[in-house]
Amino acid sequence: MFDYLIVGAGFAGSILAERLANQSGKKVLIVDRRNHIGGNAYDHYNEAGILVHKYGPHIFHTNSRDVFEYLSHFTEWRRYEHRVLASVDGQLVPIPINLNTINKLYGLKLNSFELEKFFESVAEPKDSIRTSEDVVVNKVGRELYEKFFRNYTRKQWGIDPSELDKSVTARVPTRTNRDDRYFTDTYQAMPLYGFTRMFENLLNHPNIKVMLNTDYREIRGMIPYKEMIYTGPVDEFFDCRFGKLPYRSLDFKHETLNESVHQTAPVVNYPNEHLYTRITEFKYLTGQEHSKTSIVYEFPKAEGDPYYPVPRPENAELYKKYKALADATPNVEFVGRLATYKYYNMDQVVAQALAVYAKLSDRSRWQPEEKNGHALAGTVR
Ligand SMILES: Cc1cc2nc3c(=O)[nH]c(=O)nc-3n(C[C@H](O)[C@H](O)[C@H](O)COP(=O)(O)OP(=O)(O)OC[C@H]3O[C@@H](n4cnc5c(N)ncnc54)[C@H](O)[C@@H]3O)c2cc1C
Repeated sequence: MFDYLIVGAGFAGSILAERLANQSGKKVLIVDRRNHIGGNAYDHYNEAGILVHKYGPHIFHTNSRDVFEYLSHFTEWRRYEHRVLASVDGQLVPIPINLNTINKLYGLKLNSFELEKFFESVAEPKDSIRTSEDVVVNKVGRELYEKFFRNYTRKQWGIDPSELDKSVTARVPTRTNRDDRYFTDTYQAMPLYGFTRMFENLLNHPNIKVMLNTDYREIRGMIPYKEMIYTGPVDEFFDCRFGKLPYRSLDFKHETLNESVHQTAPVVNYPNEHLYTRITEFKYLTGQEHSKTSIVYEFPKAEGDPYYPVPRPENAELYKKYKALADATPNVEFVGRLATYKYYNMDQVVAQALAVYAKLSDRSRWQPEEKNGHALAGTVR
């Protein structure tokens, strides 16, 4: 009998498996319907021998010392600060918008103080900020909004920023200095040997059994366990009984090129041209040296693997209904990006998984093992 059946071997599932096995001596079966561990953070060496991220670029960054120190038990790191350029008006300029962006775009020589005045002169102040359009127009005005945000957001989400919750564009700051780093977090680094190696280390414990190519529904009636941790889509768990929660998906087009460097930055965004949103060149992220280079194009789409929960009020309402069901489901914890229908970065999922572990271990301290075992023995779903 397993103590836990964990559905999904991404960050949420793998961290809970590691904690429960390593710290609480629990026996864990972790299943994933994909043919690999790591969830969306999975990376692998392609046919040319270049390390690539199968599901698009994953850049690790966090302000949480706890999260960074926890993961550091399972990987060494490579220092890496992410930088992005945007193709606008025939030029490649840094994004987030900063002093260099504006000076290059308009051929100006402003200083930080003058840039602040410039933003004030073009901003359209809003009384209430509700949508993704409001956030940007309120800060930098309509022209920059049109050049950098409107079409990119429409491509990415399939809807106009005026219909999308403010949280989406609020993630991208505007700066009056020359800081062209994409993130400003205290800890910015990439796992030295890649994400998948880190996941292998997380799951390398005699109490953890890993089963791939397996949907949990195929085995739940056959393999006894006491409790479940579910990290898949919450609506699917309840057979979409209130309807499907909308997700945005992506097609990834990977290419290996016969040149050692393809573009001048790790990521180039294309807000206004092409059907794809951005091109990533992996060697910048991984530091690998190779005579060829591998890139990936991202084409947003409505159907397919669920990647991004769509933050709109009606979806939040629908999620609330599933959350009420989830809260009322005994012996199942819903953890991670899909199970809580939230746009989480990797570090936030790590923090969430550690918090759930703290709750579970606290609970088992107050409920002695035999009592727990008796109450749950034979509970097989
Ligand atoms: C294109 C893209 C780029 C991203 N870039 C970044 C970034 O740069 N930095 C960052 O911090 N975050 C980034 N993220 C977010 C990051 O991927 C997530 O925060 C993280 O992977 C979430 O982990 P998770 O365990 O919650 O979910 P997942 O990684 O999605 O893992 C869930 C797993 O559950 C499995 N599963 C689902 N249902 C079942 C079932 N019925 N049976 C068995 N298995 C099942 C799935 O196959 C999947 O492997 C990005 C996400 C995407 C899509």
